[in-house]
Amino acid sequence: MSFEAVIGLEVHAQLRTQTKLFCGCSTRFGDAPNTNVCPVCLGLPGALPVPNEAVIDLAVRAALALECRVNPVSVFARKNYFYPDLAKGYQISQFELPLNEHGRLAIEVDGERKEAGITRIHVEEDAAKNLHGVGGETLVDFNRAGVPLIEIVGDPDLRSGAEAEAYLRSLRDILMAVGVNDGNLEAGSFRCDANVSIRPVGSEILGTRVELKNINSFRFVRKAIEFEIARQKALVSSGGVVEQETRSWSEAEGRTKSMRGKEEAHDYRYFPDPDLPPIRIDDEHVERIRRDLPELPAETRARWQQLGLTEQDARVLTGHPELARYVDAGVALLGPERAKALANFVQSEVLRHVTTHGLRADVPVPIAHLAQLIELTLDDTINGKIAKEVFAKMVESGEPPRDIIDRDGLAQVTDTAAIEAVVQEVIDGHPAQLAQYRGGKTAVLGFFVGQVMKATRGQANPKLVQETLKRLLAEP
Ligand code: ADP
Ligand code: MG
Ligand code: ZN
Repeated sequence: MSFEAVIGLEVHAQLRTQTKLFCGCSTRFGDAPNTNVCPVCLGLPGALPVPNEAVIDLAVRAALALECRVNPVSVFARKNYFYPDLAKGYQISQFELPLNEHGRLAIEVDGERKEAGITRIHVEEDAAKNLHGVGGETLVDFNRAGVPLIEIVGDPDLRSGAEAEAYLRSLRDILMAVGVNDGNLEAGSFRCDANVSIRPVGSEILGTRVELKNINSFRFVRKAIEFEIARQKALVSSGGVVEQETRSWSEAEGRTKSMRGKEEAHDYRYFPDPDLPPIRIDDEHVERIRRDLPELPAETRARWQQLGLTEQDARVLTGHPELARYVDAGVALLGPERAKALANFVQSEVLRHVTTHGLRADVPVPIAHLAQLIELTLDDTINGKIAKEVFAKMVESGEPPRDIIDRDGLAQVTDTAAIEAVVQEVIDGHPAQLAQYRGGKTAVLGFFVGQVMKATRGQANPKLVQETLKRLLAEP
């Protein structure tokens, strides 16, 4: 029997607010343990939560970007369980009436597009963090307790590790583009659980699923899912059954491992939180948030492809919202007909100098300088090879290209007589290659071009060099 894999992802994304979901404590990452806490987020008895309105707006923003329906009334619920990082004994989440439902996300794998459904997006608070092995003890840091999250629950529409990875990347790009999440996997502000099952091809019934917990890299998620699919197929093919359980990924061993089985499955006994009124949002408010949405990465890509960028160019350059803004600023300066030249140069030269930290990106050269460099290349003041050299100097010194070109005398030699003189010299110096060329081996033209460029320190206009060489080489 042949099987197909079924995968559904649950993503927890931290919303970018200054303060926590139900109190005024700061959400800053990396502060000293237990410095951003108060009776509410410590879960002290009698402390009352007050919802942060900014959280709801960000959650709606995310939902609209993912084409969800926003429910006019939604309800906070208590999810009851015991764990040291949950002092109240319950997490405030949403259950029966989540804020948003029925969205979708477009993904593409190997040139094939498909849409994956989004079941729901609800708002919840983060738990505290257990710090293991501090002087031989486990301590709890409550700075993260009460930090606002959205949980994005995906339909079981994915069929491979590659699709799951594409889904996560696309989801992160969108959340970052609309500014609700900083996409930082290492800091834990974007976390993913993957549910994986298999079923006979053609079956509509879902198989028993395994949940892969908290894998903090897209590549590892993909590997963990691929391993898990293979493990389940082998198990079932040899007469076994898949147990419902939670497994973790061991990168060192390259396999998933059981963390806990079904017998430890929770019964959360959800019920509406009596301390929090239902959230009511009217259409007008939703429409206001919709009007404020920036362009989404897919829209940016479509617009750029109209300007002659390839799909690959567009994908790379929308890889970070700040990079996309940088490119757009360049297009505005250079004009749409030069967008492709800009895109090429950014990818071949600029990108490797760009560093990103969450939503921040550091590009080493101001866009006005880069646009000037592209212009000087396109109007033949310098050739492409020199442009790369000038760019390296721009990164180093921060100077505009014009200054560097003038100071270092890098402008292109377009003087026909000067080029002719160099060409003649090179031909005279290589009689053997000349004979080869005239004997029909025209491929040695490349050799001559190289010699002339070397003699002019790369500054000759390559087109002129080619033309002049062909003319002088042909003469008997
Ligand atoms: P829970 O909240 O207990 O984890 P849900 O029913 O809400 O359970 O499912 C959570 C996620 O698991 C969803 O993303 C869903 O698509 C996925 N899922 C559910 N059943 C399966 C299955 N049999 N195989 C793969 N994924 C599944
Ligand atoms: Mg789950
Ligand atoms: Zn607090």
